[in-house]
Amino acid sequence: MDKKYIEGLSGSLPRLGYGCMRLPVRDNKIDFEAAKELIHYAYNNGLNYFDTAYNYHGGESEIFLGKVLPEFKRDTYFLTSKLPVWKVEKDGDAEKLFNEQLEKCNTEYFDFYLLHSLSKKSIETVEKFKLYDFIAKKKEEGKIKNIGFSFHDGNEVLQKFAAAHKWDFAQLQINYWDWEENDAKSLYETLEKLNIPCFVMEPVRGGFLASFAPHAMKHFKDYNSQASIASWALRWVASLPNVAIILSGMSSMEQLQDNIATFSDLKSISSEEQKLINAVIEDLRKINPVPCTGCRYCMDCQYGVDIPGVFEIYNDYKKSENKQIAARSYFTFMDEKEQGGNCQKCGECLTKCPQQISIPDELEKIHAEMLKIKAELS
Ligand code: SF4
Ligand code: SF4
Repeated sequence: MDKKYIEGLSGSLPRLGYGCMRLPVRDNKIDFEAAKELIHYAYNNGLNYFDTAYNYHGGESEIFLGKVLPEFKRDTYFLTSKLPVWKVEKDGDAEKLFNEQLEKCNTEYFDFYLLHSLSKKSIETVEKFKLYDFIAKKKEEGKIKNIGFSFHDGNEVLQKFAAAHKWDFAQLQINYWDWEENDAKSLYETLEKLNIPCFVMEPVRGGFLASFAPHAMKHFKDYNSQASIASWALRWVASLPNVAIILSGMSSMEQLQDNIATFSDLKSISSEEQKLINAVIEDLRKINPVPCTGCRYCMDCQYGVDIPGVFEIYNDYKKSENKQIAARSYFTFMDEKEQGGNCQKCGECLTKCPQQISIPDELEKIHAEMLKIKAELS
C-alpha cells in the first residue's frame, strides 16, 4: 500500500482510506460478518485508515467500527469521525455528541476529527457555539490528534473558513468530473495555497466514475483492457500533489481488492492518459445524468420518496441505455410512494443537498421519462 508522510499530521498515512458509509448491508442493516471480513482484509493489506461519521448507516457505522477495530492494537490504525454540526442546537450539544461518538466507537481518542459537511448555512452554528474552539480544546486534551473539516460549498465560503483557523487538514469532494464541472479545482487550489493537506472524498463520485456508457469507457479499455474504470479515477486524484488520503466507500471484496491493487503499484496519470480522461469527460458531458452522489443527506422525505434511489436508477439508465432494466428497477422494485411521481414539491429536501440538485424538478422529469419508457415497452 502506497503511503505518504505529511508534515504536521500523525504518522505516515496510507494513500487509500476506507470510507465506512457504504458497507455491505442485509435487511437494511450492516451485514456484520461481510463488513468485518472487508475491514480485516483492508487492515491486513496496509489499509489502516477508517473514516466514519455520526450519521453513516443511520448511526450504525460508528457502532460497527467500535466492535471490529478493537481487535487490532489501537496505535496500528487511524480512526476518523465527524461532528454532525447540524445537530448542534444549544450549548452542551457538541460535548454530548462527541462523548457519544467516543463511546460508540469504543475508543479513547480519534486520530482525525472533522466538523462535518460545512457550508454557508453552517457558519452561524459554528460561530455561535464556538465549534472550532471546542475541537481545538479536545485536541489539547488528547482526545483528537488532528482537526479538520469537510466541505460542500463554493470557493468564497471555503476561503473564509479555511483561513479563519489553524486546520491540520480539510476534506473535499475531488474527482476528474467535478474538477471543472463543479469547480473542485478552485477549492483544491485554496487548500494548496494555505498549506492545508487535502483529504479527498467521492473520488469515484459515488460510483459514477466506476462504470458509465460503454462508448465513453472504450477510451480507457482500448488503452488498457486490464485496468478497472474506477482505477483511473483513483489514480487521477492521487496524482494531485496536495492530496494526502483518498477515501473510497467500498461495499464488496471485489472493489476492495481492485482499489488495493491500484494503490499497491500507484502510477501517476501521464499526459497521454490525461488526454483519454479529457475525451471521457467530453462524452460524459453529453450524457448529463443527475449529479447525485448517494450521500442521503436529503433523506428521509416525509412523503416516502426514495430520492437517491430514483436518481440512481435514472443515472444507471442513462449510462447503460437499457430500458428494460430501468423500467423493472423503477416500477417493479420500487413502491409507488418511493417513485418520483409521489413528490409533493414541499421543498424540504432542497436545502439539504450538497450537490444543489433541484430535486423536485428532477423527480418530475425522471418520472415522466420512466412512464414514457413503460408505455414504449408495453
Ligand atoms: S420536495 Fe418532494 S422529494 Fe423533496 S422532501 Fe418534498 S416531497 Fe420529498
Ligand atoms: S439528492 Fe443530493 S442529498 Fe440526496 S442523495 Fe443525492 S446528492 Fe445526496
